[in-house]
Amino acid sequence: MKNKLIAILIVVLLILGVFCLRQCYFKNFDENNENSDNSDSSVQLKVHFIDVGQGDSCFIELPNYKTMLIDSGDAKHSKTVTNYISSLGYNTIDYVVATHADADHIGAMADVFEDFEIKNCYTSSVKSNTKTYKDFKKAVDNEGIKLQYPQSNDYIVKENNLDVEVIGPLKNKKYTNTNDSSVVLEVSYFETDYLFTGDAGYQTLLEYNLEPIEVLKVSHHGSKTGTNKRLLGILSPKYAIISAAQRNRYHHPHKSVMNMLSGVTVYKTSESGTVTAQSDATHLTFITEK
Ligand SMILES: [Zn+2]
Repeated sequence: MKNKLIAILIVVLLILGVFCLRQCYFKNFDENNENSDNSDSSVQLKVHFIDVGQGDSCFIELPNYKTMLIDSGDAKHSKTVTNYISSLGYNTIDYVVATHADADHIGAMADVFEDFEIKNCYTSSVKSNTKTYKDFKKAVDNEGIKLQYPQSNDYIVKENNLDVEVIGPLKNKKYTNTNDSSVVLEVSYFETDYLFTGDAGYQTLLEYNLEPIEVLKVSHHGSKTGTNKRLLGILSPKYAIISAAQRNRYHHPHKSVMNMLSGVTVYKTSESGTVTAQSDATHLTFITEK
């Protein structure tokens, strides 16, 4: 009888032991999974809206340690851009995006290609006959890379918690206007979405598959052709960045656009200098030069 009791006790202890081990294993498995999911969560995505006067240039430090430059500003600001990127410690840019062929977006590209090793380059399909555009194309050729023409639904980066998605131009649509042909990108990292609009008009942007975002690079330097109420209603940005020079001859940003953005936190490079947005899994913060 005593032996039987001991045997039952041993069996019970064994069952309990197996159960505990199993629980521990799954707990560890879950913790490891949690760790790998969140292992990048404290690494920040940094978007530098570089002050290039009347033009656009955004340098992005992606959390996967790759870099992206969206536009370079015009030729006279080339040192501003190249020095800025160098000062962050980079000599390579993984993705260069020339949103469209206008000089205030690609004028400094030749110098960027001169100073950095460029791995990939993307632009819109509408070409230009300007010397600036030819110099840009030549720089791409000299780099030994193929110019790519991304379209909606393409991804430049698609990883866990990090996407760089091409929102426009649309596939199978013929664009004639350089501004409207702008490569429009959405960069998403965890819960924070940034929309980069180039100089696309609001009518063009409204044809795209848009969703609410947190940070908007206001299209076309705040021109009234780049933003309307319907567009802002869909995007409902919390923050907006306007890249324009002080007292520029185009009177950018337009008063009506500024009125439409009331209720949104707006940063203007003309007032704040270079504006840096940084986000991780949970926080989004801004730093301004001035
Ligand atoms: Zn422009």
